[in-house]
Amino acid sequence: MCNAPSPWSRLRGLEPMSLCDWPGRVCAVLFLGGCDLRCPTCHNFHLAWYSQDDPCLSRIHILEILARNAPWLDGLVVTGGEAALSADLPEWLAELHARLSLPIKLDTNGMHPAVLERCLALRTVNLVAVDIKGPWDKYPLLTGNRVSAHQARASLHQTFKLAEHYPDRFLFRTTLVPSLSPEDIQAMSMLPPSGHTLHTQPYRPFQGRHHKEKAC
Ligand code: SF4
Repeated sequence: MCNAPSPWSRLRGLEPMSLCDWPGRVCAVLFLGGCDLRCPTCHNFHLAWYSQDDPCLSRIHILEILARNAPWLDGLVVTGGEAALSADLPEWLAELHARLSLPIKLDTNGMHPAVLERCLALRTVNLVAVDIKGPWDKYPLLTGNRVSAHQARASLHQTFKLAEHYPDRFLFRTTLVPSLSPEDIQAMSMLPPSGHTLHTQPYRPFQGRHHKEKAC
């Protein structure tokens, strides 16, 4: 269920320039606090689980920075945490798009297809990057028991249907965490819908790096 507060009240971080969050583009990155999952390998766990400990960023200040930098940016990335926890994410993205005229990429765990569907219908996102955690039967292990195999399959199948409808707007990826076997990775490669590839990225153990100091 998507019942988190508005994205403005979840905003905890801004990276004014990133070269690695949207391949081929110079982007700004906005970080929204809060996540419904508890992945044991999460690198952004403070942002995802304890964001209430940090102050919310000023809406006016963030819009000023983004508007000033927009002329030399190629895009805006919205990540978390899990951005799609907020039911009004589509309207929030529409506001950003209207103010900045920048393409928007949204990172998501794929568990909130109804919010994604509205984002796509409103044409507020240019690319949705979906993390597939593992084969269905390993979802409880990989998400801190927040998602059952049945829930994972149901949510991601809805997400895959959206990808079939908007084939140019989706990217599927997975992080090769230690609990995934070669057989798991082989099985996962068959999950995305026709025409899509599952992109893999290496797992790097957490070494205390803050979410605004990303390695790439
Ligand atoms: S879905 Fe992402 S942000 Fe949420 S706990 Fe898992 S790795 Fe962390």
